[in-house]
Amino acid sequence: MTPIPPGTTIGIVGGGQLARMLAIAAAQLGYRSHIYAPEASGPAADVCAGWTRAAYDDAEALSHFAETVDVITYEFENVPAGAVALLAGLGHVQPNAEALRVAQDRLLEKSFVTGLGGRTAPYAGASHRAALRTAIDTIGAPAILKTTRFGYDGKGQVRMADADPATLDHAWSEIGGQPAVLEGFVHFEHEFSVILVRGHDGELRFWDSALNVHESGILATSTVPAPSPVLAQLDEARAIAAKVAAALDYVGVLTLEFFASADGPIFNEMAPRVHNSGHWTIEGAVTSQFENHIRAICGLPLGSTELVVPAVSMRNLIGEQAHDWKEILSDADSHLHLYGKHEARPGRKMGHVTRLHLGEA
Ligand code: AMP
Repeated sequence: MTPIPPGTTIGIVGGGQLARMLAIAAAQLGYRSHIYAPEASGPAADVCAGWTRAAYDDAEALSHFAETVDVITYEFENVPAGAVALLAGLGHVQPNAEALRVAQDRLLEKSFVTGLGGRTAPYAGASHRAALRTAIDTIGAPAILKTTRFGYDGKGQVRMADADPATLDHAWSEIGGQPAVLEGFVHFEHEFSVILVRGHDGELRFWDSALNVHESGILATSTVPAPSPVLAQLDEARAIAAKVAAALDYVGVLTLEFFASADGPIFNEMAPRVHNSGHWTIEGAVTSQFENHIRAICGLPLGSTELVVPAVSMRNLIGEQAHDWKEILSDADSHLHLYGKHEARPGRKMGHVTRLHLGEA
């Protein structure tokens, strides 16, 4: 493709911290960023050139947005399909509509990945309450019930310890009676993510995979290098990720999350975007996930994804943890990132801190 040159404008759907870090990387490369979001403001507002506040079903606002930007990308995948189709019809949208369609639906992404030879937890769809009984009779307990759409940070999911009718009733009401997928409980040692970038010409680069530790369903830390049981499963996990990217004709950064189990890597979910478990790449890799995403969608050559230090760790600052900024800054090897959010609500991602381990292997 003819590159979209620096000096032009990148449209980003969503105005949170991922859009903020994408816009910073875009600015470094000489691009302007224009945000489209239903909110009046957000973390990206401090660093973008323009902001359209409009609903995702506002066809007129979407059309106008598409006209004023040179390429469109997303910071989150839950953009309604109608808006995606409209934007895709109007301009250059990456990742493409098919990638979003698959990643928006847990059932679809699981069948897509298993269709390519990947391994998932046993799963069954439960589109209504009666179907949940059939699903748990098939999958067995313990299990996890997840809404097929719009789940994030452990929201929209509930663990089921047994298959008693009361447990089913409780779980079904907890997820709001929405169409769901029931997954068998996976006994895993570690969680890790594979983050790749794919260019217009199909060139593929992987960052090192981080060991991800979650607390209360929210990512707490990502550490590179991951321990050897994870490293032993990387080739297989990367092979699946590469197949997914190729099958979707994917352009940009793609993330696949895995459980490292005794049976090998088990695919959990994918995100058609830059990912929290890749924030360490800003200081820890030659080229960050944000910069390479911008390079990929603009048709520029991709930068190296190599590590620049032997080890690096990222810790999310959740809620009031962001108040510790002074203490964090007193460590000279730590980089503080605050997202400019005003209210430190519990469970809210306020920022992150990346620590470079200069001498450790
Ligand atoms: P998810 O929203 O699918 O990423 O799930 C959030 C977290 O719940 C994961 O990072 C895991 O720690 C845990 N989890 C999700 N699915 C399963 C499963 N099938 N078995 C065991 N733990 C799970």
